[in-house]
Amino acid sequence: MTFATLGLIEPLLRALETLGYQTPTPVQAQAIPAVLAGRDLMAAAQTGTGKTAGFALPLLQLLTMEGPKVAANSARALILCPTRELAEQVHASVAEYAKHLPLTTYAVYGGVSINPQMMKLRKGVDILVATPGRLIDLFRQNALKLNQLQTLVLDEADRMLDLGFSEELANIYRMLPKKRQTLLFSATFSDDIRLLAGQMLNDPLSIEVSPRNVAANTVKQWVVPVDKKRKAELFVHLMRKGRWKQVLVFAKTRNGVDALVDKLQGLGINADGIHGDKPQATRQRALDRFKASEVQILVATDVAARGLDIEDLPLVVNFDLPIVAEDYIHRIGRTGRAGNTGEAISLVCADEVNMLSAIEMLTRQTLTRKMEPDFEPEHRVPDTDASGQVVKKPKKPKKPKTSGGGGKRNLGKWVDSGEVAPAEPSIKPVRKVPVFNTGPRKKK
Ligand code: AMP
Repeated sequence: MTFATLGLIEPLLRALETLGYQTPTPVQAQAIPAVLAGRDLMAAAQTGTGKTAGFALPLLQLLTMEGPKVAANSARALILCPTRELAEQVHASVAEYAKHLPLTTYAVYGGVSINPQMMKLRKGVDILVATPGRLIDLFRQNALKLNQLQTLVLDEADRMLDLGFSEELANIYRMLPKKRQTLLFSATFSDDIRLLAGQMLNDPLSIEVSPRNVAANTVKQWVVPVDKKRKAELFVHLMRKGRWKQVLVFAKTRNGVDALVDKLQGLGINADGIHGDKPQATRQRALDRFKASEVQILVATDVAARGLDIEDLPLVVNFDLPIVAEDYIHRIGRTGRAGNTGEAISLVCADEVNMLSAIEMLTRQTLTRKMEPDFEPEHRVPDTDASGQVVKKPKKPKKPKTSGGGGKRNLGKWVDSGEVAPAEPSIKPVRKVPVFNTGPRKKK
């Protein structure tokens, strides 16, 4: 199969040739004809499957072939994304695919001044990529009208809900014309997503290109159990031992990102960090430098989990496990992209056992554990498996050995002092996280 046999027009084929895309990926093979035929779409496709081109190519074709010229302060197609980074990246791809077409594209998101965005929208744009919060701001300030909208794309819809955008989506839904084409892409399909799809989509065609909730199998994954306080030391040890060249590291909190970056920089390691407290321009610069291999280690919170597309990223390290199990899939989706193989290593301490269990249940696999000599944890990480079972009953406490051996030490106390062990291990991934604010963030 080729892109030409899918019915794409010549200017798009030319753009794809320049990009070196030869064969459509499975999601593209299914989505392109369906979107060209005007169908609504509900697509289960994780990141790295080529889903962006799957919706963008037919969308660009329809906008070129059909419909009136875009009016002032209007958009003919809207692509909603959960994060600024993803919006930027989707926009860059769309602009690349559209380069031989007479269409205008633009991306708007929070964290940067709204005025230039309002100016840019005056003439109208054919395709607008937006994060929900900023889109609503622009609409409320009359900088954007949506009555000309032909197509709405919800990209990474599950992520939008996880980030607390359900209210924004409900508001946007009320702003949309009734007659439109809607395409919903999501890596995972929870009940909430199905509810959203039920409201937003009209007789959608369902496509699924990877088994539900299964992480990309091109990524080799394992876990290194370690005590929380020794994670940074272990990271540096593994980095030196494995001669890691380009690593994307995920930490749970902004403070965690800053602390690790400080520590690495203090050791003379070329590291930078991105998180929501940093201005958009700083985040973009760090990303660009990482992509250009000018920065060796990029430490990020989950805000960066979606938007990053780095060719041949060989390794992702979960310095902390994500609170939301689905984020694990998105994080490791940063490697092993477009058919390449990658590695994902998670440094897991005892009080993350419930998150580990939730991830194993979601991805239906028991992650291999590899003990690193000299880093065996004092606080043992209880056994877990894909059934969601956590062997949480501590065995009889043993006195810590003073030398040699490793493994099962100090079993009676597997949470750090000062922390409370959960009464029941929660095997359900946490669904609700605080409302994501696309505007500038205040330091806590
Ligand atoms: P996505 O899942 O949309 O984030 O795409 C993942 C990566 O695959 C991006 O770097 C795309 O440029 C690349 N890609 C998408 N479609 C193709 C294709 N048909 N052939 C080769 N690479 C592709």
